[in-house]
Amino acid sequence: MNYLSTRDKSLNFNFKDIFLRGLAPDGGLFLPSEIRHYNKSELENLSKLSYSDLAVEILLNFCSDNLSKDELRSLIQDAYKNFEDKEVVRIKKIGNINLLELYHGPTLAFKDIAMQVIGNMYDQLKVAEKKTVNVVVATSGDTGSAAISALNNRKNINLFVLHPHNKISNVQRKIMTTIGSNNIFNIAIEGSFDDCQRIVKDLFNENDFREKINMSGVNSINWARIICQIVYYFYTYFYIGKEKISFSVPTGNFGDVYAGYVAKKMGLPIDKLIVATNENDILQRVINTGEYKPDKVKPSLSPSMDIQVSSNFERLLFYILNEDDQKVASLMKNLKDKGSFKLNKEEINEIKKDFKAEKISDNETLSIIKEVYDKEKFIIDPHTATAFGAINKIEDLKDTVALGTAHPYKFLETVKKATGKKVEAPHQLEKFMEKDEKFDIVENNNEKIKKYILNKIQ
Ligand SMILES: *Cc1c(COP(=O)(O)O)cnc(C)c1O
Repeated sequence: MNYLSTRDKSLNFNFKDIFLRGLAPDGGLFLPSEIRHYNKSELENLSKLSYSDLAVEILLNFCSDNLSKDELRSLIQDAYKNFEDKEVVRIKKIGNINLLELYHGPTLAFKDIAMQVIGNMYDQLKVAEKKTVNVVVATSGDTGSAAISALNNRKNINLFVLHPHNKISNVQRKIMTTIGSNNIFNIAIEGSFDDCQRIVKDLFNENDFREKINMSGVNSINWARIICQIVYYFYTYFYIGKEKISFSVPTGNFGDVYAGYVAKKMGLPIDKLIVATNENDILQRVINTGEYKPDKVKPSLSPSMDIQVSSNFERLLFYILNEDDQKVASLMKNLKDKGSFKLNKEEINEIKKDFKAEKISDNETLSIIKEVYDKEKFIIDPHTATAFGAINKIEDLKDTVALGTAHPYKFLETVKKATGKKVEAPHQLEKFMEKDEKFDIVENNNEKIKKYILNKIQ
């Protein structure tokens, strides 16, 4: 399987290359040159598999050049042994909505599902055998802890996690800053998540620096994250057992919902993918109006979605623009130079074939959490609440699944405000809460960050 860049189709990388690099050298995102399409009887066969076996089948399509089926099976089984459930996810009926709980991993984040696999891939692909790899990642709260849990104590790997200072929840920060051993460095940036993400992208684009530190990334722009997330769309479809289903996805960087789009491309009968945003609604705006224009980040009750530069959207653009790499490159150049780009009517209609988008305000988020609790005696977190809220705003939806992306305990202040209830600490987290926190506050400045990293790895 050969991988190209959204901005240059002539690039030719293998899975191991793109795994390690994360971002293409031209600043574009990696995509496979082809996507396997399953027919009905192949889907029927997949439907009989356990979660881990299904993951092996799906992932093998994208990485068989570098990993054998046996290697993949053993690393996936190992990755999921620390989950609460053998089947990794739980699916429940809450009122008339199917809830897909993705938060039963070691840090109670849906990001654990991909990150635990990725941690094992670093070892299995032997990328750090000769030279230490320095992973640099930006987080809006949950990626950081999931990455730390996955890479803690791994040989020849350091992890630098950039989070926006004072803009994540207390529980999120505590998990991140208490579980790391001495290969983990937490950096609180004096800025927003978009600043953290921009710094990481800039560092990747500085060839000298990237090579000097043997830099790697595990943000949701890393294709390995996406392929791990495709699996639960298949698993849920088989579990629900209906002809066609829709998914409502709390969205920030467009990674999770993009995995659903790839699942649909692979032949899974998905009707609509619903993009649920909070007040940082760039995706809702681009899908409904065609204008992609990042605004200032507004802190919200669902901080993991407080994102205005939604990186994975570029991967959708590539297909919407009929795989015209030059057109993608020119839109991304507009974004950089003029601060926005605009899609035409046909392009918007193309997107609307697969997607719907709704924005959920903080007030709506609170009332949804309350309503679900009052009616169903069930507590959802503010991110999951946006997925519920988006479903409620759309008529004519049948058999819809809301993705539950975080455990409510992580946002207990918000949940308490909405319901008056205090969420009990899940046992996985008890061990983090009493330890000392370890993080450094650094200016929102590329040179300062580079200096910090070089200083730590000397
Ligand atoms: C990361 C995250 C999201 C957004 O996922 P994307 O793949 O960036 O769209 C939503 N909810 C929670 C709790 C998250 O941690």
